[in-house]
Amino acid sequence: MFRKLCIVPAILAGWALPTPAIADLRVFACEPEWAALAKEIGGDKVSAYSATHEKQDAHHVRARPSLIAKVRRADMVFCSGAGLEVGWLPLLMQRGARANVRPGKPGHFMAAQHVAVREIPAVVDRSLGDVHPEGNPHVHLDPRNLIVLARELTKRLSAIDSENKPTYVQNFSNFERRWSANIEGWNAKAAGLKNMPVVVHHKSWSYLIGWLGLNEVGSLEAKPGIPPTVSHLRNLLKTASAAKAKAILRTPFDQSDPSNWLAGKTNIQALVLPFTVSRNAKPGALKNLFDDILLQLEKANRHP
Ligand SMILES: [Zn+2]
Repeated sequence: MFRKLCIVPAILAGWALPTPAIADLRVFACEPEWAALAKEIGGDKVSAYSATHEKQDAHHVRARPSLIAKVRRADMVFCSGAGLEVGWLPLLMQRGARANVRPGKPGHFMAAQHVAVREIPAVVDRSLGDVHPEGNPHVHLDPRNLIVLARELTKRLSAIDSENKPTYVQNFSNFERRWSANIEGWNAKAAGLKNMPVVVHHKSWSYLIGWLGLNEVGSLEAKPGIPPTVSHLRNLLKTASAAKAKAILRTPFDQSDPSNWLAGKTNIQALVLPFTVSRNAKPGALKNLFDDILLQLEKANRHP
């Protein structure tokens, strides 16, 4: 009885409890690559959660209650933007995102707003179901973009959590040095890939193709997001054969039938390239992603 009487008022006063560790800055990433980049710059000051995993198509995600709960607690929402998440992110935001992660705040970080966006259509015809009316949102596979985005991320993390600014700035400086060296290495290795003719399933690879100087000779989807039609595939068979395409590129979440069909009719290799890192990626995963992609492309390019 005596103990109880003593302890209860102490807890109420708040001084008998151990001081909780300062909470991490919580980043809600729409795709795994942004969670990984947030960990690179945030280090142990940041906890990053990715709404999607590496085998999931970020165009189509259900705004489920567990995601709503995560957005509610977020100090930063870090996504590709340019409409990639238009089918689900606005819904998550409406269900209780805090003011500090709303558009216009440092906690609302859309990657595509900070890099040069490719394939912005001159005319948007929504009746065709074009999923990329704001241009191509898949900006992460040009590694040069990751430096630009890491720099912007550093600014934003420092604004939200000024106490840890020195850590963020230092982490960025380390990242920039390492990543620039990686890019130099990849550029040297990939010199032989220049003008390699490729077919893509979806316009997932445009930034990679732009960076490496590959030659995209066709797409299995006649329009982004529209499944391939028979007549389109027949035409593509002619174009791709005439262009001597070396590979058909698809992600692990694209349908396999169209690229297998084209590969079966031609000598073109159907490749399933990793599109991003795993959801709980360890440091270094972003580098491995580019290493893996380049390795597969080089192999296909050597194929007679
Ligand atoms: Zn897309």
